[in-house]
Amino acid sequence: MGNLVAIVGRPNVGKSTLFNRLTQSRRAIVNEQSGTTRDRQYGKVTWGSDEFSIVDTGGWIVNSDDIFEDEIRKQVTIAIDEADVILFVVDILNGITDLDNSIAQILRKVKKKVLVVANKTDTFDLQYNAAEFYAFGLGDPLIISAVNGLGTGDLLDEITKHFAPKEKDDKELYEDTLPRFAVVGRPNAGKSSIINAFIGEDRNIVTDIAGTTRDSIYTRYNKFNRDFYLVDTAGIRKKAKVNEDLEYYSVIRSIRAIENSDVCILMIDATRGIESQDLNIFSLIQKNKKGLVVCVNKWDLVSEEQKTAKGQKGFESAIRERLAPFTDFPIIFASAITKQRIFKVIETASEVFENKKRKVGTHELMEFMMPAIENYPPPATKGKYIKIKYITQLPNAQVPTFLFFANLPQYVKEPYRRFLENKIRSQWNFRGTPIQIFMRDKSK
Ligand code: GDP
Ligand code: GDP
Repeated sequence: MGNLVAIVGRPNVGKSTLFNRLTQSRRAIVNEQSGTTRDRQYGKVTWGSDEFSIVDTGGWIVNSDDIFEDEIRKQVTIAIDEADVILFVVDILNGITDLDNSIAQILRKVKKKVLVVANKTDTFDLQYNAAEFYAFGLGDPLIISAVNGLGTGDLLDEITKHFAPKEKDDKELYEDTLPRFAVVGRPNAGKSSIINAFIGEDRNIVTDIAGTTRDSIYTRYNKFNRDFYLVDTAGIRKKAKVNEDLEYYSVIRSIRAIENSDVCILMIDATRGIESQDLNIFSLIQKNKKGLVVCVNKWDLVSEEQKTAKGQKGFESAIRERLAPFTDFPIIFASAITKQRIFKVIETASEVFENKKRKVGTHELMEFMMPAIENYPPPATKGKYIKIKYITQLPNAQVPTFLFFANLPQYVKEPYRRFLENKIRSQWNFRGTPIQIFMRDKSK
């Protein structure tokens, strides 16, 4: 199970700069679409053999100049609830402010590991100023410069030192031939209701595996002739003490559930349509390369006109438009209350799980793809012709991954990759699962 690190602190201390520095290397590798604001809030960091998720709690604050103390207090509280390690960022050039002190006051009460990060230490001679941060009573301050990278390696060493010892392999915790579904979505979309609808009164539980020190647990069910795990998190079970409408609240609460799942059932409230919170959660699902089923819930509440085939189609295309370029996923219109299509949701999630594991033989792949490529070859770049010679699917990848061997792999651009992906999707059933296309040098 993943570790979660939260960055907290008052505005302008350098939280987002630090977030960017720590997530940078990873981003370059995964080649995500960048430039969307939601990318600023959640990322993955690899350091040695450790991998963890990181959230910048400040990323949610729109106007960070005149932010209320109360708002920061909530932010910090949520971070404390969810994170394994908390980075309390302060500004060495400015020293301690009242706001820093009140955040420190909250942090002193928590049992989780808090690291005081003295940012903006751009040169070593500034480090002596860090002494004043001992006053927080939160241990040795770590000096860093988010801008030039000074001290960030030591910071990463320190962070990973405080992770729980690697728990038993996931494989020992659950039977990994069975799918793990997470029900996610913003508050009031109907997550608890649909989980109750799945489970029914008799709570047909086979086994209960507590995630030891963690919040997340898998509960195994045998329902509708399907055997599966539901990833249950405290965030979904417990109702929040803080204002549930806080956007970052539902997003942070979803992280664990998503990371621990194979397929996410994203609940959308039919009476509200897709909103920014839904997009944030969708983005988390994508970054973690999980399968997706969109469940448009509360379908009992929409007008008769919307329920017609035409109304439904309109709703569907609106969703696909918002989630583009990924559009090959199932959408189910359901009602947790009337139980309409509840079975269908589980059935579809099971299909997505199968699709995510699907393997296409090299021969079959070549036979279909090579003529398609011949008909529509990669555009020549800088006067050079690109030839794709060989295609194969990687045997043991987390999601279906296809290697295309070509003479000039670096010249194959995003639109052509998309063409290849769409071709593959048109021939084999990969509905609901992300797929990866990698170009490789044929000479290797
Ligand atoms: P946030 O509001 O806490 O997320 O802070 P930002 O990351 O937006 O940074 C606030 C300001 O501090 C920006 O102008 C940054 O360029 C600057 N800043 C961030 N980190 C450093 C640093 O390590 N050294 C210096 N000198 N400036 C920094
Ligand atoms: P959660 O916060 O996502 O767990 O949402 P809940 O399951 O607590 O549901 C929020 C509210 O929406 C509750 O009042 C539910 O009764 C209601 N609700 C959930 N699903 C449906 C549905 O399919 N139809 C109707 N009419 N109400 C629903």
